[in-house]
Amino acid sequence: MCLFCQIVKGEIPSTKVYEDEKILAFRDINPQAPTHILIVPKEHISSADEITPENSGVVSAIFEKVPQIARAEGLKNGYRLLTNCGEDGCQSVKHLHFHLLGGKKLTERMG
Ligand code: AMP
Ligand code: ZN
Repeated sequence: MCLFCQIVKGEIPSTKVYEDEKILAFRDINPQAPTHILIVPKEHISSADEITPENSGVVSAIFEKVPQIARAEGLKNGYRLLTNCGEDGCQSVKHLHFHLLGGKKLTERMG
């Protein structure tokens, strides 16, 4: 089972910030900004490249909760939401996740 599936099942501990039947948000273990949260579907989807009409509902579910999670973190001045995909995208955990970063002015570099 992949690392984030184990976190979803509670077999590996995490600092949860939001959870419902479809999604889980928890703090990144190696934060790149004052707020660095990972938002994942509970269902295993390997990456953005595996999103289909059949499973995309959970992606909407994640995006629908982003404003609430950002508000709870006090990210009044904005934030960055991103997903790394595959080798060139430097994806290290092969379970779809969105990084929510904020709490400071982030760098303009994206690549
Ligand atoms: P990515 O490189 O986009 O696949 O992102 C994977 C992220 O997972 C990295 O930012 C890691 O710091 C984070 N990470 C790895 N293991 C854990 C863990 N056990 N708990 C929380 N975050 C983790
Ligand atoms: Zn998984």
